[in-house]
Amino acid sequence: MRDTVLYPELMIPLVVGRDKSIKLIDDALKTDNIIGVVTQKDAKVEEPEQEHLYEVGTAALITKMIRMQDGTLRIIVHGFSRFRIKNYTSLDPYFIAETRILSEQEERNNESEALMLNVKKLFEKFAEMVPYISSDLTSIVKNMDSPGRLADLIAHSLRISTDEKQQVLELIDVVPRLERVSYLLSKEINIIEIRNKIQSEVKGEIDKTQREYYLREQLKAIQKELGEGDERELEVNEFKERIEKAGLPPDAKKVAEKELKRLSKMHPSSAEYSVCRTYLEWLTELPWATATEDNLDVKDAARVLDEDHYDLEKVKKRMLEYLAVRQLKSDMKGPILCFVGPPGVGKTSLGKSIARALGRKFIRISLGGVHDEAEIRGHRRTYVGALPGRIIQGIKRAGTSNPVFMMDEVDKIGMDFRGDPSAALLEVLDPEQNFSFSDHYLEVSFDLSKVMFIATANFLEPVPPALKDRMEVIELPGYTDDEKLRIATQFLVPKELDAHGLKTEQLQFEDEAILEIIHSYTREAGVRNLEREIANICRGVAKEIVERILENTAITRVLVQKYLGPQKFYPELAERTSIPGVAVGVAWTPTGGDIIFVEAAKAKGKRTLTLTGHLGEVMKESAQAALSYIRSKAKDFHLNPDFFEESDIHIHVPAGAIQKDGPSAGITIFIALLSLLTNRLVKSDVAMTGEITLRGAVLPIGGLKEKILAAKRAGIKHFILPDRNKTDLDEIPEHIKDGFTFHLIKIVDEAVNVALQEGIPTTVPIAPKTEEGKNYNADYVSKVN
Ligand code: ADP
Repeated sequence: MRDTVLYPELMIPLVVGRDKSIKLIDDALKTDNIIGVVTQKDAKVEEPEQEHLYEVGTAALITKMIRMQDGTLRIIVHGFSRFRIKNYTSLDPYFIAETRILSEQEERNNESEALMLNVKKLFEKFAEMVPYISSDLTSIVKNMDSPGRLADLIAHSLRISTDEKQQVLELIDVVPRLERVSYLLSKEINIIEIRNKIQSEVKGEIDKTQREYYLREQLKAIQKELGEGDERELEVNEFKERIEKAGLPPDAKKVAEKELKRLSKMHPSSAEYSVCRTYLEWLTELPWATATEDNLDVKDAARVLDEDHYDLEKVKKRMLEYLAVRQLKSDMKGPILCFVGPPGVGKTSLGKSIARALGRKFIRISLGGVHDEAEIRGHRRTYVGALPGRIIQGIKRAGTSNPVFMMDEVDKIGMDFRGDPSAALLEVLDPEQNFSFSDHYLEVSFDLSKVMFIATANFLEPVPPALKDRMEVIELPGYTDDEKLRIATQFLVPKELDAHGLKTEQLQFEDEAILEIIHSYTREAGVRNLEREIANICRGVAKEIVERILENTAITRVLVQKYLGPQKFYPELAERTSIPGVAVGVAWTPTGGDIIFVEAAKAKGKRTLTLTGHLGEVMKESAQAALSYIRSKAKDFHLNPDFFEESDIHIHVPAGAIQKDGPSAGITIFIALLSLLTNRLVKSDVAMTGEITLRGAVLPIGGLKEKILAAKRAGIKHFILPDRNKTDLDEIPEHIKDGFTFHLIKIVDEAVNVALQEGIPTTVPIAPKTEEGKNYNADYVSKVN
């Protein structure tokens, strides 16, 4: 046999394939069915010789034989006795040998009993440890009482080497045999135990890592459920990347890295965490290194500027100069401009157009109503909900470090206990400082020197002088009707047509229609309302085209009313000045200048002067001064010196709801009073402006250009103004002054003959005869003549 050992009293199946053995079986089955079974020492030997075989074997009875189709046999042998080969008598056709039966002594003594017990115990333990011992076998072993059989059975069922099995076979005495089996069992158990230990150690190791992994996964799941942890890790990594990409300057980068380190240690649900994160977001999202390339092509820029706006030559020229110098000096700082003018004159759209011409981003913030320095410069991070100031916010929105940055309404910034915003603005607008603008929130400085700042204002006066100093002021005073017409035909109409999806073939505007809109539907220095009314007409026409009421149309004067409804503004000069006591002034308003009416009325009373129309202190004082001057010179004006003794005088300036102030209505009040007192009408095409002193001197005023434009819109032909404004007048372009007669006066008396109508008043004169015995009116007429 190869690989196995047969013990007495045990049955095993065998496959017989070797010719020699088949012959042996055949022969044996013909006689007593008994064969000797020995094991070959080396299982690999195919044709074993006698020296290849062990000398101790087992005599066995063949109890069953099946012949297979391939000629091999399946037999079951039942061992019954050990034997030892004495000598071989024949080797062919099979081995035949003389043997000696090795009979066993089944002596039962304490030693063998004890050994049996031990072996049974060990086997029981062993059976529990390995899967291949059946419970039947265990119970057989348990109930066995022959020590020899016990040893043989156990040796047979162990998975030990053939050599070891043979050793058991060769031990004839039961005690050493049991001892041997006991040793083998112990050894096997030991091996299994060691194996288990190693396994459990390995497993333990695996378990540990697995456990950790498992816990970590669970922790992640929990944190995810709570919205933390994992997120933080992700965020920290993201910020790391962003810091690298943001192109921060070295000191800012250091701060960012320090802050990130802090963040990685914080609990994501803490308030501190979100503060820190917001800060890092700001730091990394600012365009430290992002800038647009300037379009330095002067011709191209000029084309873009002309494409967007009519005239405004001063600004356009300034921009092109800037571009030219930029070509010669690449690190030139951005200019700081300030556009001053009433609404709707194109300040904002000009800023946008400049950005477009330069190829830069455009950003706009409003400073109107900003009281707090922190709005410009940000809040320190220690405040809850702190944010950077508007400048840094604007830069972030622009996404580049060199945008065209428009700051609207610099004339409307306030100043109070919260600090002075204009001080912060000074830093922003100072080329010597703004390369390192420090925002309280950011703490690290940001370079604003490449930004092109454009401030806008309606008035220049309220702008703090220091701020004014920093900027190049460019005035955009408003447009004449003629200019408005051109802006409308060249820019506004095409723009609105496009915005409403209309083609030029579908809708045209006649010039007189546009003039009608300008005169009867708007009263403004700019063109914003004009643009709005044109848009209104476009909408109306678009609707009719869609409804197939018409295919195309040309808007005429008459049609304007159809689309815009009844006229909104009337020429009221003539009508309102048709009674004595009403004079026309011009005021400078946020919308660019407008005409105002000063009305005076007189009633019987007791020397009271009533002033109404929401007038400011300065204006009230002007009124008092005007009255006092007239009283003091009543004689010169041919008035009864006591005219005030028994009368009350009321001066009113409509519209009463609008606050009016300033000294420049002095002349107008004077003329209104004089008109009332002398009963002479004010000429309807005369407007006036100028401050007066108690001695009648006329002092200069501001905003002349706007005032002249306003007067022009209202159809004024004669303009009375202080002589000391002559230089301002000289600077005003001819096309604006066209159609006016200007009367420069030094003392207020000079205004009288220009402003008041000649001739006999329609009502009874107040004053009786003068000293010369002439009617004051007659005197006046002669004087004029
Ligand atoms: P502001 O900022 O001065 O109040 P906007 O820039 O809002 O005025 O101008 C109002 C509208 O008038 C814009 O649509 C603008 O394009 C148009 N506009 C103003 N001036 C001109 C001009 N000179 N040429 C063409 N369009 C103009």
